[in-house]
Amino acid sequence: MAAITLEHLAHSYDPKPGPEAQFALQEINHTWEDGRAYALLGPSGCGKTTLLNIISGLLTPTRGRVLFDDQDVSTAATAQRNIAQVFQFPVVYDTMTVRDNLAFPLHNRGLDKPYIAQRVQHIAKMIGLESDLHKKARGLTTDLKQKISLGRGMVRDDVNAILFDEPLTVIDPHLKWELRTQLKSLHQQFGHTMIYVTHDQTEALTFAEKVVVMHDGRVVQIGTPKQLFETPAHKFVGYFIGSPGMNFLPIQLSGCRAKIGETSIIFSHDYGQPSGDVQLGIRPEFVRFTKGEGLPVRINSVRDVGRHKFVNASLSGGEINIALAEGTILETDSSHVIFDKDKISIFCDDWRVEGEEISSPHRGAK
Ligand code: ADP
Ligand code: MG
Repeated sequence: MAAITLEHLAHSYDPKPGPEAQFALQEINHTWEDGRAYALLGPSGCGKTTLLNIISGLLTPTRGRVLFDDQDVSTAATAQRNIAQVFQFPVVYDTMTVRDNLAFPLHNRGLDKPYIAQRVQHIAKMIGLESDLHKKARGLTTDLKQKISLGRGMVRDDVNAILFDEPLTVIDPHLKWELRTQLKSLHQQFGHTMIYVTHDQTEALTFAEKVVVMHDGRVVQIGTPKQLFETPAHKFVGYFIGSPGMNFLPIQLSGCRAKIGETSIIFSHDYGQPSGDVQLGIRPEFVRFTKGEGLPVRINSVRDVGRHKFVNASLSGGEINIALAEGTILETDSSHVIFDKDKISIFCDDWRVEGEEISSPHRGAK
């Protein structure tokens, strides 16, 4: 196993990129620590597969280097990198049995038969393929074939890393949760470095210790699920994580004082004098109704989603979503909202601005 370092890595599919060339992957510098479980999260087309294929060696980057520990593998072939990769769609040998498919990567490396048999049995048990081991892969459902692909990705215990590229796309929804749990437990048992690509925030947040969020070919934040939720580094993270995502309101800001429409707010932090497009971000979970204090709102709709109710309301210059916690009643004379003072984010031209905490008697946003 190895730490994987990306140094000044960037990629354009244009073979001779000029100054105007599109880069599918903007420059990234990052070390994937040995033995961690990462998710690579972002919408379709943001560059996830491009990045994964550069790590595995299927793609040679336009710029930069890939290091496994201290060894430069930028030009090494996939086979030399000792990486297992599982793709979105099943890759199986149709004429072989499930058992032989799972055993293939081990046979290839000349491992002894008792070890192979035991390892195949173990993996088959984990992903629910035990009763199918004797069957030919041809004719199996797509679900089962993808399970074989997953099993083949996980069967070797000597790989540097296991890369999963949206591996549960073709899997039946009720099986997804089960398989994801198995991948997690495999990680806990064997401690492989794992990078799990997905566009699904629930998958990313439940699988990974650290989530790498991509947007438009760029890594915008790397953090724990809690950090992504509480302190998004970029507006895109605020919007993409959470359901519904963070609310954004244009504000006029100076130091710790701001105006939203006609309402003045005093923050617990001093943000200086940011110039550019300044917006306040607040998650629906941290907005509360009042009967006169704060920002005036007009309620548009209430949506019941089980444990929470989500309220959509209009306010000066836009709309806002508000989550009502379980058991909270929406009173008919709710006319204003306030924000939890420590949960406010400020963004300038899409990027988070950190304020300096002030210990003034004005603490708190109203
Ligand atoms: P994701 O996996 O996040 O959906 P990709 O890495 O597949 O994103 O693609 C990133 C961008 O690169 C997209 O704009 C896509 O159209 C482009 N792209 C992907 N593969 C190729 C290719 N082989 N040739 C040219 N452009 C490509
Ligand atoms: Mg992809």
